[in-house]
Amino acid sequence: MFVDSAKIYIKAGDGGDGCVSFHREKYVAAGGPDGGDGGKGGDIIFQADDNLSNLLDFRYKRKYIAERGKDGAAKRCTGKNAPDLIIKVPRGTVVKEVNSGRILADISDDGPVVICKGGKGGKGNAHFATSTRQIPRFAKPGFRGDEYEVMLELKLIADVGLVGFPNVGKSTLVSVVSAAKPKIANYHFTTLTPVLGVVRLNEEQSFVMADIPGLIEGASEGVGLGHEFLRHVERCRLIIHIVDVSGSEGRDPIEDFKAINRELKNFSEELANAPQIVAANKTDIAQAEQIQRFKDHVEKEGYPFFEISAASAKGTKELMNAVFEKLSKLPPVKQFEAQPLTPEELDEKLFSRREFNVTVENGVYYVEADWLWDVLRSCNMEDYSSLQYFQRVLRSTGIIDRLEQMGIKEGDTVNIFDFEFDFID
Ligand code: GDP
Ligand code: MG
Repeated sequence: MFVDSAKIYIKAGDGGDGCVSFHREKYVAAGGPDGGDGGKGGDIIFQADDNLSNLLDFRYKRKYIAERGKDGAAKRCTGKNAPDLIIKVPRGTVVKEVNSGRILADISDDGPVVICKGGKGGKGNAHFATSTRQIPRFAKPGFRGDEYEVMLELKLIADVGLVGFPNVGKSTLVSVVSAAKPKIANYHFTTLTPVLGVVRLNEEQSFVMADIPGLIEGASEGVGLGHEFLRHVERCRLIIHIVDVSGSEGRDPIEDFKAINRELKNFSEELANAPQIVAANKTDIAQAEQIQRFKDHVEKEGYPFFEISAASAKGTKELMNAVFEKLSKLPPVKQFEAQPLTPEELDEKLFSRREFNVTVENGVYYVEADWLWDVLRSCNMEDYSSLQYFQRVLRSTGIIDRLEQMGIKEGDTVNIFDFEFDFID
């Protein structure tokens, strides 16, 4: 089974907790605090693996959770950092956040890409001794690791993509110009999975061609096969549009040509505007007038036109040379940029879902709100302006009002995701 999309849950490890401990030694009466810091949680890292060709594995295993950092220990021992969790995916996998649809990464290069950062370890009590507080009986818990529900989408990496109706000879072309051997047969949708073929013109010159299943009308609206495969030509630098010019299946080549271009356009404007070369196939069984009529139409539309007979490899060499020539003038294969949230989007996210819950336990006010996590994480609590921003958020979202209604007083403790601070009005 060829699987080119999958939804999975990923979570980086939480940080280990800081430790509360006091120095003990024979004959030393009251030792100072010596609790060590927690270790960092493991990151979730994605990496391309060329031994993988699809996303099938992710249909079976859908949860990936990195380990938690180890807790700190006495004698200022810092807890061990947890190992990162490396998720291997086929090259060309695009990782999107399900909630917002934004792209987190395009795993096309060799380097590892961190998608979820592990939580930092909490500080041990050794950090909290001051002149007025010599016996700090508290330490900080570790921070939570990032988590996301992500959509993985494989978008093959090829220079050239073949598009056309079923049965026009796409697979035949790939089989005669490359070493790839896609299935060829005289019925529709023989090709059910995209196939990559390397076209070698000579020792130095080569490019990668993708054969994808045929498109049918309505494919871009998800009617039948086709639509889901268009993502595999999204990155292509050039499209070869193959048309059965003989009309061997009773359709008109010009109508075919228009229909496929309509499909491309419905899928994405960008794809419709991608450089396109038109190959009229099955010229061996086509009539000269048929070919001429189609040629006139295509050239009037401004596309380069080639006549081929894929089955007998006639004209295919000329086509490949022209493709190479054109590729040498085009930018490299497209990569998808990660889309970080802008500060406005972060705010938007904040204000659109600002439900929260406050509970009191042993004089500590616990604020629970999923959306606050992003805010908390983006703030450096040791930095004054960052802290002010955080306070503003608490005020503008009504959390401070609620705390006051519940009777909070100056100096009481507020706990948000285990981050604790004193309430100051
Ligand atoms: P695809 O669905 O576009 O991949 O088409 P295939 O490559 O599977 O070919 C469909 C049918 O058309 C097969 O029976 C091929 O043998 C036939 N075919 C492909 N190219 C030619 C050609 O140049 N001339 C003729 N007469 N038949 C062809
Ligand atoms: Mg085919």
